[in-house]
Amino acid sequence: MRRFPLADAARVRRWIIDTALANKAAFAVTLGCFAASTVVGLIAPRLLGHLLDVVVAGTTVETIDGLALAFLAVLIVQAVLLRYARLRGIMLGEKLLASARRGFVAATLRLPLATVESTSSGDLMSRATSDVDKLDEGLSKAVPEILVATVTVVFTAVAMLLTAPLPALGMLIAVPVFVVAVRWYRPRMRTAIDVELASAADAQAAIAETVDGGRVLDQLGRAPRRITVNALVLGVLRPNGRNQARLIGAFDAGAELAYVLPLLAILFIGWWSYQSGLVGIGALAAVVLYAQALSDPLYELLKWVDELMTGSAALRRILGVEQLRADHEDTARPNPRPEGHEVRLQGVRFGYREGHEVVHGVDLEIAEGERVVLVGPSGAGKSTLGALIAGVYEPTGGSVRIGGVPVTELGLERIREQVVLLTQEQHVFSASLRENLAMTESGSADEPMLAALRTAGLGDWLGELPAGLDTMISGGVTDTDVDGAVTVGAARAQQLAMARLVLADPRIVVLDEATSLLDADSARELDRSMAATLAGRTVIVIAHRLGAARSADRVAVVEGGRITELGPHTELLGQEGAYARLFQRWSAGAR
Ligand code: ATP
Repeated sequence: MRRFPLADAARVRRWIIDTALANKAAFAVTLGCFAASTVVGLIAPRLLGHLLDVVVAGTTVETIDGLALAFLAVLIVQAVLLRYARLRGIMLGEKLLASARRGFVAATLRLPLATVESTSSGDLMSRATSDVDKLDEGLSKAVPEILVATVTVVFTAVAMLLTAPLPALGMLIAVPVFVVAVRWYRPRMRTAIDVELASAADAQAAIAETVDGGRVLDQLGRAPRRITVNALVLGVLRPNGRNQARLIGAFDAGAELAYVLPLLAILFIGWWSYQSGLVGIGALAAVVLYAQALSDPLYELLKWVDELMTGSAALRRILGVEQLRADHEDTARPNPRPEGHEVRLQGVRFGYREGHEVVHGVDLEIAEGERVVLVGPSGAGKSTLGALIAGVYEPTGGSVRIGGVPVTELGLERIREQVVLLTQEQHVFSASLRENLAMTESGSADEPMLAALRTAGLGDWLGELPAGLDTMISGGVTDTDVDGAVTVGAARAQQLAMARLVLADPRIVVLDEATSLLDADSARELDRSMAATLAGRTVIVIAHRLGAARSADRVAVVEGGRITELGPHTELLGQEGAYARLFQRWSAGAR
């Protein structure tokens, strides 16, 4: 299956700059606190160097006590400042994460359904879960740690240059070693991390599918084969992990060299400068202490840069979903308003896969307010036609127009305003009944919700609910309470979807087996109570129960991806063709 794309470097950069600008005050405070704690921390080696100088020159116990107390005070102030800076850093990280999460959820919810269907669900799920966790780790831990370490390294280097410039120049030897090591390491590690995250997504999808289909696999005796499939997917992770360990090992060796070489150079130049009388023993001791003090922040920097690389790879995956939406909207043409609500299909062709067309040039005009029922054998293409009318898929040939405007030009928002597609499977969210109904803008007031529930035949059920609209409900197979929530069975979920439809108030409705799970009497009852609501709207019904065809304005028989008969029920019966045969068969079965 297809994967979502990775965001390009420009988009990631733009996100970072936009987010940093939006939080510039918080950034400034955090950075200021880190800088203050580092400056205070730098006083300690200077105090020690001074202590050495006064001891060599000869001093009193009081001076030594005073310096020791000052040393202690510096450490305490530094610890307090550092703690506060870290706290601010973590809070900032959480803020950035929340903004990335919000963008991701908004982008995902606005993705075209066809894109979601044709892309690996494991890929999307892992971006929403494990990648967000990795970004969390990167933002709330790596960013503050890297800030501390960078500020410490920079300020320590400046302090070394100010204390004893000549020996401090020995640090420069680290620069070429670091540059070479980083240039070698970064691209290799980035590729390895991309592979790791993508394989982890595949593994998550494979495991989730195995769990979902566990019973079927067991019944068919296919468990061993499935274990092999999972092992193959997981198998990619192991060599990639080994590769990452090798890269880290080689980079650590380079980093070690970049630390040891300057220390040797500082000692060597320092010893020579001291001999030549260019630097005092106190200043030299302070520079060596500074150089040693660099080892911790450098180590932290390297450790957290790895985490940050993982976080940024996760960010590229998370922003990739937004990029897909942005690309889709960029290619969407201007957003015209349809004139009226008639539906016109002209030479419509469609295939789910290339070279496998399932709709072969369908022409159909449905007038505003007309009710057309699509009937035909299983697999004929009825649901596909319904989804094409609802703009779920783009036709590969011909056009589907609503009020004269091709659905491809309408834009997602407007299509969803105009057309509602109800299919057989309806989702019940684990939330209050009110939240389940308020999926549409107009569903916020109580009275329309109660009226919609009554129209959908749920008036009696509502009366039985302990807290009315505030009753917690969840999807399930029985009508028993689980964990305090009232479980809503699949048939009742279809009625709930009808109530949502009433609240959404679209002008065009596609009902694809929307009441198929109700028993025949309940379905008839629901049809009757919905009749007033649907009157005046353009309605396309896909039904196996041909009783629905009797009340339709016209019936379209779909066979093999084509419309083979079209006309009112009585007229088609009189033709004694495919529809007459289908209807006779259905009537015999229904009796
Ligand atoms: P039914 O009455 O059983 O729902 P239908 O007339 O609605 O059938 P469609 O569901 O539109 O028929 O299917 C038309 C063809 O497209 C069938 O061959 C089906 O296997 C194929 N098809 C449907 N959905 C998909 C999909 N998501 N991916 C690939 N092929 C699909």
